[in-house]
Amino acid sequence: MNEIQVTKVGIVSCSGEEIPDGTLCRIACRKVLDALRPGETVTICLPLFIAGGEEERSFAAKYPTITVDGCEKLCTAKATEMLSGKPGKSLLVPEILKRHGLPAPTKLRHFGLEEEPAVKAVAEEITKAVDEVLAEA
Ligand code: SF4
Repeated sequence: MNEIQVTKVGIVSCSGEEIPDGTLCRIACRKVLDALRPGETVTICLPLFIAGGEEERSFAAKYPTITVDGCEKLCTAKATEMLSGKPGKSLLVPEILKRHGLPAPTKLRHFGLEEEPAVKAVAEEITKAVDEVLAEA
């Protein structure tokens, strides 16, 4: 039996600035946090989490997390697992784009209409993961 009723999921996005898929991670996560599941999600800042932010780590230790990584190095999933516990779901942007038959973005910033299908696909998969994690909790 769960001692706490889980009503929120921590979203941890990769902070990669060096590849467009890292930017895509952050924009898609923001869309979920602000527009798609605002009441059910909180953001966990990866750099602060790694630096030892008490609030971020204690949330991630008590509540489920979903990690979203921009490349196969999986920094976010690995850091989350090492510092608090296995993520409820780990998403990888290149895999999502491949499943949806979408090309990888080429811009590092200033995403616009061209990148909208990729942002939508990633945001929708994060939203689905949120719903699944909450249903399983
Ligand atoms: S997962 Fe890839 S893009 Fe994201 S922070 Fe790590 S190396 Fe950078």
